[in-house]
Formats: sequence, structure tokens, C-alpha cells
Amino acid sequence: MADDAPAPPKINTSVPHPARIYDYLLGGKDNFEADRKVAEATVAASPGVLQGVRDNRAFLGRAVRFLAEQGITQFLDIGTGIPTQGNTHEVAQAVNPAARVVYVDNDPIVMAHARALLRSTPEGRTAYIEADLRDPDSILKHPDTLATLDFDQPIAVVIVGTLMYVDDEEDAFGVVKRYTDAVVPGSHLAITHVTADFEPESLEAFAEAYNSTHEMLTLRTGAEIMRFFDGFELVEPGMVGLSHWRPAPGEDSYRRTHGAYGAVGRKL
Ligand code: SAM
Repeated sequence: MADDAPAPPKINTSVPHPARIYDYLLGGKDNFEADRKVAEATVAASPGVLQGVRDNRAFLGRAVRFLAEQGITQFLDIGTGIPTQGNTHEVAQAVNPAARVVYVDNDPIVMAHARALLRSTPEGRTAYIEADLRDPDSILKHPDTLATLDFDQPIAVVIVGTLMYVDDEEDAFGVVKRYTDAVVPGSHLAITHVTADFEPESLEAFAEAYNSTHEMLTLRTGAEIMRFFDGFELVEPGMVGLSHWRPAPGEDSYRRTHGAYGAVGRKL
């Protein structure tokens, strides 16, 4: 989005926002000067971030396809991001046209784009709500959530590239438990999360640059990220660097080092 184009209401373009920083790093146009400044600082501090965001998006696609192929037909995608290639409903509905998706994000710019995108999908199968994941009731009890998802049947809770924006003081683990408690056994949880476990210096420099103007991002260790999967068993290959999670044929060695973990678990 050009800086002189009118921004949707409620958008403060002078404050960097995770959705727009991610959009810039992915090569998108829905970002502003404040976002680009942070994004460029992270790339200068840790050049691997450009591959890292692509790995994250690719994981999302592989995980959703895997879940749809396992017979999961319902998805609660929290921290959706600005629509780009391979959105959750597109991937899931390509496997099963009856798949239902509820998207959640707290950035109004995501809402503006999602509305336009969703106009092209069959009514009732995909919903979008603007809400803050730290307020689970506003999502789990939202009329559009209840109209789209059946909580008596398995649901995949997808929180990809998002939990690092909720810190421990905001009770990140308790918040995720509210979602995982709300779904029946056989449901799944898909998470990616930045970590300094693989490349400590590079990731600490990345986090410092990301947080240079506003404190936004929390790095977590693998052991900490595993806590989100309490009550779940991880599907193969467990929690691994993003591109090592069920790579597509021909992709199996495409990256050896990582700035983030990815995992999918099944509720016991
Ligand atoms: N899930 C997408 C993906 O992996 O391609 C987008 C990830 S993007 C890095 C993180 C998203 O989480 C952004 O769109 C941001 O607006 C959203 N987000 C951050 N904090 C949030 C919160 N407290 N509630 C809802 N969404 C949030």
C-alpha cells in the first residue's frame, strides 16, 4: 500500500505492526514506512530472516494440506496475516471443498483485505473475525465462529508465526490452553515459533532489531514451545526446524539451519 493511499480506518501507520512487517519481508505492498524500517533493520541484523519468512509460509501450507489430507475439515487460523499466496482456506478447500475456516487477526488492515478475498468463497465455509488472540472468549464465543465451526467435531487450531507476539506476562501458555481445551480429542494444533536454539547470535540480533522501536517479539526455546502442546502428541517428525517438517519431494535438504520451530500435534 503506498503511503499516500488512504489507509483503512483505525490504522495507525506510524507504529510498526507484525502483519505489515511480515508482508514487507514476503515482498508484499501492504506496509508503511514504520514497518519497512523495522523489517530492514531485522534483515541487516540477521539476513536469514528473508528465507525464514518464506520457510514459515511454506510450513503453513504443508501443515494445512497435511491436516486436510488427514480428514480434518475445520480450521481456526489465529494470526492469519495479510492474505497472500496459499491462504489456509485455499489450501484446505483444494483438498476438501467442504473444509471450513475461521480466520482471526487483530490488524484492521488484514480485515480489509480478507473481506475482499472471502467474497469469492462459498458462503458459510470461511469467516473472518477481527479479534485479539489474548481474549479467547471474544473468538471462541463469536457468533461467526459458532456459525462456521462445530466444536463437537475435531478442529485444527493453527497459530503460525504468531505466538511470539504474546509474552509470558500475558500468559501465552494459558491463552493457548483456552483454545486447546475448547476442542475435542482428535483435534490438532499447528504452531511455528521463532527461537534462538539453532543460531543464537543471529536470532538475538534479529529480536533486538525487531524490538528496537516497540517491544513486540519474544524468542522461546524448544522446551518452552513444547509447553503449548501439553495434552497433544506430536505427529512425525516432531518439533523441528521449519523446512525439515514434512518437506515436499525435492525439498528435503533445502535448508539446514533455522530461526524457528514448527510442529503439529494431535489432541489425546
Ligand atoms: N499466520 C500467517 C503466516 O504464518 O503466514 C501470518 C503470520 S504474521 C508473522 C503474524 C500475524 O499475527 C499478523 O498478521 C499479526 O497481525 C497477528 N497477530 C499478532 N498479535 C496478535 C494478537 N494479539 N491477536 C491476533 N492477531 C495477532
